[in-house]
Amino acid sequence: MTRLCDGRTHDGHQGREHGRRAGIWAFPGTVLCVSRRTKIIATLGPASADPVIISQMVEAGMDVARLNFSHGTYESHAALISAVRAAAADHDRPVGIMQDIQGPRIRVGTFPDGAVEIETGSDVRLVAGGGEGDGSLVFVQRLEKVTLEIGAKVLLSDGLIRLEITSADGDSAMARVIEGGMLSDRKSAAFPGAPLDLPAITDKDIADLAFGVEQGVDIVAASFVTSGDDITRVKSIVGDVPVIAKIERVAAYENLDDILSVADGAMVARGDLGVELGIAPLPRAQKDIISRTNAGSAVSITATEMLESMTSSPRPTRAEVTDVANAVLDGTDAVMLSAETAAGKYPIRAVEMMAAVCLEAEASPGYPEETVSFSSLERSFASAIAHAAADAARNLGLDMIVAFTESGSTARLVAQFRPDARIIAFTPREATFNRLALVWGVTPMHFPTLDSTDAMIEEAGRRLLERGMVAPGDWLAMAAGIPPNQQASTNLLKLHIVGSDANGIPGSATSKRIEE
Ligand code: PEP
Repeated sequence: MTRLCDGRTHDGHQGREHGRRAGIWAFPGTVLCVSRRTKIIATLGPASADPVIISQMVEAGMDVARLNFSHGTYESHAALISAVRAAAADHDRPVGIMQDIQGPRIRVGTFPDGAVEIETGSDVRLVAGGGEGDGSLVFVQRLEKVTLEIGAKVLLSDGLIRLEITSADGDSAMARVIEGGMLSDRKSAAFPGAPLDLPAITDKDIADLAFGVEQGVDIVAASFVTSGDDITRVKSIVGDVPVIAKIERVAAYENLDDILSVADGAMVARGDLGVELGIAPLPRAQKDIISRTNAGSAVSITATEMLESMTSSPRPTRAEVTDVANAVLDGTDAVMLSAETAAGKYPIRAVEMMAAVCLEAEASPGYPEETVSFSSLERSFASAIAHAAADAARNLGLDMIVAFTESGSTARLVAQFRPDARIIAFTPREATFNRLALVWGVTPMHFPTLDSTDAMIEEAGRRLLERGMVAPGDWLAMAAGIPPNQQASTNLLKLHIVGSDANGIPGSATSKRIEE
C-alpha cells in the first residue's frame, strides 16, 4: 500500500513514500509528484554552498534556488548552479534557478573587525566610496549620486539605524544619529524620498545578466526597479527568461500596474519595502501586491524574514509560522527563504519547516481561492480551455488536470483558477520544465515531442499510469492543442478515462468508473 500524490493509497504500487513532510512523493520510473501547491524559493549562500546540503534542500522541498548577485563571484555562482542542476537530476525534481540581480542598491563600506557600534546622539561623517570607516566616518557607495537636503533621513542596515542629515556637500555629508545600533560591513543604506541619479539597471547588472543567460538561469529577479520600462530593459537582455519585479521601493508599489503590464511576476520584498514604506503598512501592502499580481496573471512571491529566527534556532516562532501560513492564505504562488538558508545554521530544517507549514495552511477550509475571474482575462482560446478544464475538474471531482505546454502558459493559466486538482504540465522543453517549478500547483514533467494530439493524450495516460500517479478508470481533464507542439495553440479540452485510447475506446475502464 503506497500513498499517492493526492494522499490516496494504492495497492500493489512499487514506489516508496518519500519526503513526506515536504509534500513530495516518489514514484517508480523516477517521477516525483508534489502534493504541496505553494512553491518554496530558498536562497543559497555560505551556509548552503555544499552540494550535499543543496541535495538535501531539494529533497526537503526547495523548488527554486535563488542566487543573490549582491554577493559572490561568477565562479561561486557557477558552482552553485551546477550543484543545483546535479541535485535536481539526482532527485528527478524540477528545480528552477533564480538569478537575483543587485540593481542600484547602495551599501556602506567596511569596518575594522567587520562591525562597529553607531551611538545614538553622535555625529557621523558620510563619505562617498567603499573604504574602511571607524563609526564616526562611514563610507557609502554612490553617495555622490544621491541628492541630500538638510533634514533628509538615512536608514542603514535595513532601517535598524536611523540618521538625519545636518549638512551635505555632494561627496560627503554630516548626519546626527537618531537611533543607533551595530553596523556591519556592506550593510544597506537607504535614502527614502531623496532623488537618486542611478540607472535602474547598472553596468554590473548588465554583465551579471549576460553571465546568467550563458549559464541558463531559469528566472531573473530584478531589484529596485520602479517602472515597466525597467523590466523591459532587463527583458531586452535576457530574452524569454521570466522576469520577476522585486517591489521594494515605494515608487515600484505606486507603479505596480505599469510594472505588471510587462513583468512575469512580482515579489513582495518586505525587507527593503519595509524600510521605505515603514513596517506597519507592510501586511496591507503584501495583501494588495499579491492579489493585484495574481489578478494580473503574474506569479506572486512573498519574501524576507519568513522564518528569520531559524537563522540561529532549530525552531521558528509561532508568529513566523503564522506569517508563512497567512501568505499562503493570501494566495501567494511562492514563499521565499533568505538568510535562513543562505547564512543560517539550519538551512535544511528551514526548508522542511516551510514545506510543513505550507501544507498545513493549504488544508484550511476555503483554500485555494480562485485568483482571477475569467471575465477579467484577455479573451483567448487558451484561457477559455484553462477555465473549462478547472471547471470540469471541480464539477466532476477530478484529481488531475494535464496541460500539454510548450511555453508553460497553459499550465500557468490553469493554475490561476486554483483548482483542487493537481496540475501536471507535460513539456518537451527543459527551460519550461524548470521555469514551471515556481508556479503554484504545477508539477512539471518531461514529455517527448509527438506528432499528433491523440498520440500525446494516449502517451500521457500511459506515463501517469506507469508511474502509479493515476489508476485505470480515473478521469482526467487534458488541455491540449491541435496542431500539437506549437506555442499558444491550446484549443482542445479532452475529458479522458485512464486506460482508454484518445477516442475513449476500449471501454472496459470507462464502464468500471461509470458503474461505481
Ligand atoms: C528584500 O528586500 O526583502 C529582498 C528580498 O531583497 P534582498 O534580499 O536583495 O535585500
